[in-house]
Amino acid sequence: MNKIEHIGIAVKNLKDSNVLFSKLLGVTHYKTERVEREGVDTSFFKVGDNKIELLEATKPDSPIAKFIEKKGEGIHHIAFDVDDIETEIKRLKTEGFKVLNETPKKGADNKLVAFLHPKSSNGVLIELCQEIKH
Ligand code: ZN
Repeated sequence: MNKIEHIGIAVKNLKDSNVLFSKLLGVTHYKTERVEREGVDTSFFKVGDNKIELLEATKPDSPIAKFIEKKGEGIHHIAFDVDDIETEIKRLKTEGFKVLNETPKKGADNKLVAFLHPKSSNGVLIELCQEIKH
């Protein structure tokens, strides 16, 4: 794995949180993107080399809606940048991690992504992401 690619934060209202995080970080978000299949609207901030992803549910059965219901707003996942997501998925399975997406899927911000179940990583939802090269 390479660096932390971004930290995902679950929020109730993306518009309000965009304003809040702009004040906090001193930059405005550089993109917003809906990931229809996941039922989320996302926005991304760049702070130095790091990124923050805000996530708001678009429907009641979205994983983000369920997360907020259970735990409230807050840090939802940590995403790591990887060079080869398929190899990394195989490696982590061999190491005993529970991989939620055996086949990587298209995520926000031009990435192939796969998640690890938080139960196998001390309660932290881990996202692997690989930049899609055109
Ligand atoms: Zn993410």
